[in-house]
Amino acid sequence: MMTTLTGLKCVTCGRGFGPDGPWMTCPDCGPDDGILDVQYDLDAVRAAWKSTPLADRPLTHWRYHELLPLESSAIRDDWTVGWTPVIDASRLAKEMGLKQLLLKDEGRNPTASFKDRASSVGVAHALQLNANTIACASTGNAATSLAGHAALAGMPCVIFVPHTAPEPKLAQLLVFGATVIAVQGSYDQAYQLCSQACEKFGWYNRNCAINPVLVEGKKTGGLEIAEQSASFGGVPDWVAVSVGDGCTIAAVWKGLSEMHQLGVIDRLPRLLGVQAKGVAPIAYALKHGSMPTKLQDGCTVADSINVAVPRNWRKAVNALKQANGVVVSVDDDQILDAMRASGRHGVYAEPAAAAALAGVKVAIEDGIISGGDRVLAMVTGSGLKDTRAAIRAGGEPIKIEPNLDTLATALKGRGVTDGAG
Ligand SMILES: *Cc1c(COP(=O)(O)O)cnc(C)c1O
Repeated sequence: MMTTLTGLKCVTCGRGFGPDGPWMTCPDCGPDDGILDVQYDLDAVRAAWKSTPLADRPLTHWRYHELLPLESSAIRDDWTVGWTPVIDASRLAKEMGLKQLLLKDEGRNPTASFKDRASSVGVAHALQLNANTIACASTGNAATSLAGHAALAGMPCVIFVPHTAPEPKLAQLLVFGATVIAVQGSYDQAYQLCSQACEKFGWYNRNCAINPVLVEGKKTGGLEIAEQSASFGGVPDWVAVSVGDGCTIAAVWKGLSEMHQLGVIDRLPRLLGVQAKGVAPIAYALKHGSMPTKLQDGCTVADSINVAVPRNWRKAVNALKQANGVVVSVDDDQILDAMRASGRHGVYAEPAAAAALAGVKVAIEDGIISGGDRVLAMVTGSGLKDTRAAIRAGGEPIKIEPNLDTLATALKGRGVTDGAG
């Protein structure tokens, strides 16, 4: 094992474990409550970053390998995950009345979503443990990122899906060669079957709710925000993240907090969690300290955050509390508007990704975010992931006969023929 990893600690009972694991949940608290948190010797990390400065490292998320629970030989620099661009959307900031608006475009990851951060680290860990097969239950991006990285590793991969995933995500899974099991039942049943199969067949289980390694991968999003914000006037006042299971926002917070402890940033941002209207149990939990008693299973165009029973709500609520955070919820029209808005500034977002930006707008209207604030929105996945929603947001092309005069007429008032001789 590497020298920076000290071990794991149960977030419920506080029991500590050495670096050899268990790399799942706490045996005392069980799979629902016994989430383990990976811990590092930050002095050792600081020393390592002093001898090999971050500035001299490859532009991928592996640059933070001392903060990942992997042996050095398991690091896969050749899988170019992370270091996604931060786009200064200054025109959009002006329209929205903000001092600064940054969009971190996670759609540029290898399989086009933020989930590549987790899956790449998970597959590297599975290789380190000599696992023969890797599995997960997911409707979308977690599965496609796993299938993509399993394909890179040449490792068989089994995916359990309920039959509601958007077609482009399903297509990605099948083309990457995953064994796709469409469970005739709910997501919860698919999840249970996956867990049982992992136990029975000895597969590596890629599931953020129980596998602490994956959170460490997602954490790199927060590490990057901390490092990249130096080029944009320092730490933003707010980081906006869309919330489904709650694992992403908790992990981004862990990354930011570690960078704060390491002295890379001198303060922390506040968190804006964004949920879909009608499926917003974490908004409820932040207010009431528990899950809603009535199941929230409304509809949303944002399939990636359509999670009625989030498995990491405690972690998400803890992060939001520490970050003096707020949760807002957004409806489909607001999400489709935000897809157009980010698209017009060069960032193609799937609905759940645009939701973060839609949430920023709502937070401004509600007086939560003020005009003087600097905001970074995580755009967690590409618009290519859900082309049906993208077409809904984008509208229709201009249909004309192949004739220049007709074209000129059709183009009037669109600002593209100015200066024509
Ligand atoms: C998974 C996902 C989220 C939410 O992450 P959680 O960990 O479920 O909260 C947001 N956006 C996209 C595109 C995702 O795939």
